[in-house]
Amino acid sequence: MDKFCINHPDNKALSFCHSCGHFFCKDCLQEGIEFYYCKKESCQQQLQEEKLQKAENSIITNKKSITNQYKFMEKIFILGIIGSILLFIGVFTPIVSIPIMGNINYFNNGKGDGVIILAISILSFILVLFKKYKGLLYTGFGSLAVLIFTFVNFQIKMNEITSQMNSELADNPFKELANTAISSIQLQWGWALLVIGSILIITSSKLKNEKFI
Ligand SMILES: [Zn+2]
Ligand SMILES: [Zn+2]
Repeated sequence: MDKFCINHPDNKALSFCHSCGHFFCKDCLQEGIEFYYCKKESCQQQLQEEKLQKAENSIITNKKSITNQYKFMEKIFILGIIGSILLFIGVFTPIVSIPIMGNINYFNNGKGDGVIILAISILSFILVLFKKYKGLLYTGFGSLAVLIFTFVNFQIKMNEITSQMNSELADNPFKELANTAISSIQLQWGWALLVIGSILIITSSKLKNEKFI
């Protein structure tokens, strides 16, 4: 059944007024943000209130999104700082244990590739402090590259030593002992810190770029 306008009985109603509930034609209604209102004074007031309410809501939503963005930036910052510190500490933690000689760290009294990592960790720290997250992509992948280089070098050297020993000590009764000693050379937990540190630095940079392109 069709409804008709309360002011114009010949006109079909478009809708009803959200405030007073009467049906009205197109000419008698005004569109709010969500609802229709008629032109009665009290109903027009309701219309204004609806608009105000909407405006307030959008301000609240904006505030929330700014707060979220701020929190997100804080997380990226902390991630970058932790990554740089882990990398820094990682340089001075054991990466290889050798029987009798003991543990060796990446710094190795300034002789190891760890010196490069040390520089990278300090540079990363400074980049985070100044919020230059793009640069972290280079320091992060740079340190990973150095780590891989050292790791591969280490494996090659180990193979060299093993084959050298095998040929030199071919008939030596100590051959077994030497082999046991070599096979007990072990990688240490410092690697974990170094790799995790690098990954955190890269993640921090990646997250920043993804969110604000
Ligand atoms: Zn009304
Ligand atoms: Zn009407």
